[in-house]
Amino acid sequence: MINFYYSDEYFNHDTGSHPESIERIKVVKELLFKEYASHNFIEPSYATKELISNVHDINYIDNIFENIPTSGFNYFDPDTIASPSSLKSYLSAVGGSVDAVDHSRDSQKDKNVYFCAHRPPGHHAEKNKAMGFGIFNNIAVSAQYANTKKNYSKILIVDFDVHHGNGTQHMFESNPNVFYASSHQFPFYPGTGDISETGNGNIFNCPLPSGCDSILFRKLFTENILEKINHNFDLLYFSAGFDAHKLDPLASINLEDDDFKWVTEVIIKKYAVNIPIISVLEGGYDMNGLYNGLNNHLKVLQKYSDE
Ligand SMILES: [Zn+2]
Repeated sequence: MINFYYSDEYFNHDTGSHPESIERIKVVKELLFKEYASHNFIEPSYATKELISNVHDINYIDNIFENIPTSGFNYFDPDTIASPSSLKSYLSAVGGSVDAVDHSRDSQKDKNVYFCAHRPPGHHAEKNKAMGFGIFNNIAVSAQYANTKKNYSKILIVDFDVHHGNGTQHMFESNPNVFYASSHQFPFYPGTGDISETGNGNIFNCPLPSGCDSILFRKLFTENILEKINHNFDLLYFSAGFDAHKLDPLASINLEDDDFKWVTEVIIKKYAVNIPIISVLEGGYDMNGLYNGLNNHLKVLQKYSDE
C-alpha cells in the first residue's frame, strides 16, 4: 500500500505552454487512478511560512507571497512561472512532503511508503531564489523538518532526476545528518553536480555524459553512489524525476522504463531496512516517459511496503 499525497489543486497551477505544464499532473493522475486506485490517497495540507522558513529565507518567502499575479503570468526566473492560483500548489507540494514525515512518525508500521504527486518540482529552488520551475524546495523542507523536528538522525536523499538538484545539495552540504546522492546529465543545467562537490563527505554526485545509455548509467550509478555510500539510514527520500528517460525532450540521457525500476530496487535493497520511504515528484516532460517511468518506480515502492 502506497500513501499518495495528491490534490486536484495542481491542475490550477497554470504555466501556459511551458514544459512543466498541467498536462504532467493529468498524466500522473491517470496513472494513479488506473493502477493504484485502491491505495491510500491523502489531501496535502498547506505549508505555513514558518515551516518553509526552516530552509528558505523569510524575506524570499514574503516576496513570493506578495508577487503572485492577479491575472496573467509572473516570472520568478525565466523558467519559473506563477499564475493567480499557483500559490496553493506551491504550498500543497511542500505541505504534502512534510505531512508524510508526520504520518510516518504517527504510524505503527516501520515500512510506510509515501509518494508526493505534485507540481511544481522543487530541487533547484535555493534558499533565496526560485530556479528551474520550482519556488520552494519541497524535499529539502521535508528532510530538514524530519531531521530537526521529528528525530530522524540519518537521512538519505537519492535524486535520479536528469538535472542536478543544486538547491538540495546547497541546503545540506554542511549537514552531516543528511546525505544527498544525485545522478544527472553533466555538464548541463544547472551547472553544478561535479563529482568533486562532496560537501561534508555527505554529497555524492554521479555525472552522466550526454547520450548515456542504460548500461553506462547502471555502471556509473553503482560506482559513484552504491559503492561509495556505506551507512545506515533511518529515512530514505527519492527526488523522483523521470526526465532521464530516452523520450524526454529536455535532456539527452537515454534511460529505458526498466531503469527506473532498477534504480529504485538497488537503493531500497542497500539502504532501506525497515524504514519509511518518501518519494517526491520532480521532473519528467515526455508524457509516456513520465507515465511509464513513474509506474516502474511505484511498483517497486509498493512491493517494499507490502513485504
Ligand atoms: Zn529535471
